[in-house]
Amino acid sequence: MKHIRVLVSEVILVDTFSMFNLDKFRFFFFLFGLVSFSAFSDWFEDFKSSASDGDLHQLLYEMPKGGDLHLHLSGSGFSEWWYELALLAKEKGYNYYTKVKLNNCVAQGWNSFGPRPYQLMFQTIVAAEWKNLSGCEREEFFPISDLSASQQKAFLDSIRLDKSYEGRDEFFGAHWQRLADLLENPFLISELIAKNFSAFADEGLLYLEPQVNAFGYRWPDQTPISPDEVAMIFRERLTKKDIKDTGLVYRFQHSILRFLPDAEKTLEEVYRFVSRNDPYVGVNMVGREDNDKGYPLRFLPTLRNLRREYSDVRLSIHAGEVDEPNFHVRDTLLLGADRIGHGLNLITDPETMRLMRYGPYLVEINLISNLLLEYVDSYEGHPFGEYLRIGIPVALSTDDRGMWDSTMTDEFFVAVKEFNLSWKEIKELSRNSLRYAFVDEKTKARMLALYETRISSFEEKNRVRGSRNLSTGKRAPRRQFICKRYGLCD
Ligand SMILES: [Zn+2]
Repeated sequence: MKHIRVLVSEVILVDTFSMFNLDKFRFFFFLFGLVSFSAFSDWFEDFKSSASDGDLHQLLYEMPKGGDLHLHLSGSGFSEWWYELALLAKEKGYNYYTKVKLNNCVAQGWNSFGPRPYQLMFQTIVAAEWKNLSGCEREEFFPISDLSASQQKAFLDSIRLDKSYEGRDEFFGAHWQRLADLLENPFLISELIAKNFSAFADEGLLYLEPQVNAFGYRWPDQTPISPDEVAMIFRERLTKKDIKDTGLVYRFQHSILRFLPDAEKTLEEVYRFVSRNDPYVGVNMVGREDNDKGYPLRFLPTLRNLRREYSDVRLSIHAGEVDEPNFHVRDTLLLGADRIGHGLNLITDPETMRLMRYGPYLVEINLISNLLLEYVDSYEGHPFGEYLRIGIPVALSTDDRGMWDSTMTDEFFVAVKEFNLSWKEIKELSRNSLRYAFVDEKTKARMLALYETRISSFEEKNRVRGSRNLSTGKRAPRRQFICKRYGLCD
């Protein structure tokens, strides 16, 4: 296509040159004018048709972005971060042990589906808990600082979906159970917040709305820490220079596990907690939707009760993250949600789809998550393009990118490659991620204005420099997902 265009331009120019008898100087000027007109008309389409995948990925990394509205903090730690933070935790008195072998200490009566399945390797527990084990079981665990190189690698691989046969069951049934006590240390989680802020700022985001839980934390001796104390620890960390220097605007959500028998009680506690603790602004509901016990309308009476008393808690709720058709998205909107997480099976509910066109609700799209957790077999079966192009507000987000070993840049890369996004659509996705943020109107307007300034200057630079001679900034991290699926790392 590009070649044809050049050829046509040359023919026109030669004709023009002879027709008007232009001198060489004016001819050069004419040529420059034509070339720059073509570059200004749609530089991104030209770029897509000529750039390598590597250059496209680098461009999308350097591109200013809006926000990430759907990410679970505990799923957003890369394996090497967990390892590093587990080692550092001894400064606050937390010493960790991880399970590296099985001695068949528990011959019978153990449950593979419980919270701490005996046979699950690389479960990481704190010293106080390790001391309570039998002598036989203690020998199955090594201090995390004493792992051999191969044990270290196995630890890292145990909390990311790195094998083709690993999917939804591994993710829901093993990753979180392995992280175990690491998830109960508020200082470690504070450092994880800091690492995420820094990585997302490097990718050019200006807003984050992570789901950061504050319930179930413990001191090194295993005595509980109250959620309000945990929130205080987080707030204290958020005032530190490294986080402030990222310039990110942030708000937190708190999630609840929807299918547990006492989920209504937890919802009430979490709702109250969010209402009284900055920077929390919203509640989410998570957990496998194919477990029917957590169906959306179960929570309608509880939420109506809570709404009688509280005015300041926003709802973004996972819905439609399932293989089969149902009305979970419709029912979740009835719960009062302003945003829907995933919304994959919305495509099977035409009435609700019609309602959502150009509407006040946004669907948070998680392309990599949906593929790796096997909700779609390939992107041909993903409704993202359909939603985007019939006017349902959508934004890209990362969900649990630590466990996919991917980045926000990768989400944009997948969207461009698989759905042939135009530059206009890319900008719309970023704007949506700010328009639908749970912030006050003034903050929203400020973020949108900042995004427009940043993206205009980025466009201008790219129009001038064209598709060649691309990168001027830091090299984009190329993590396992993008390397394996798109061969970007050879
Ligand atoms: Zn999610």
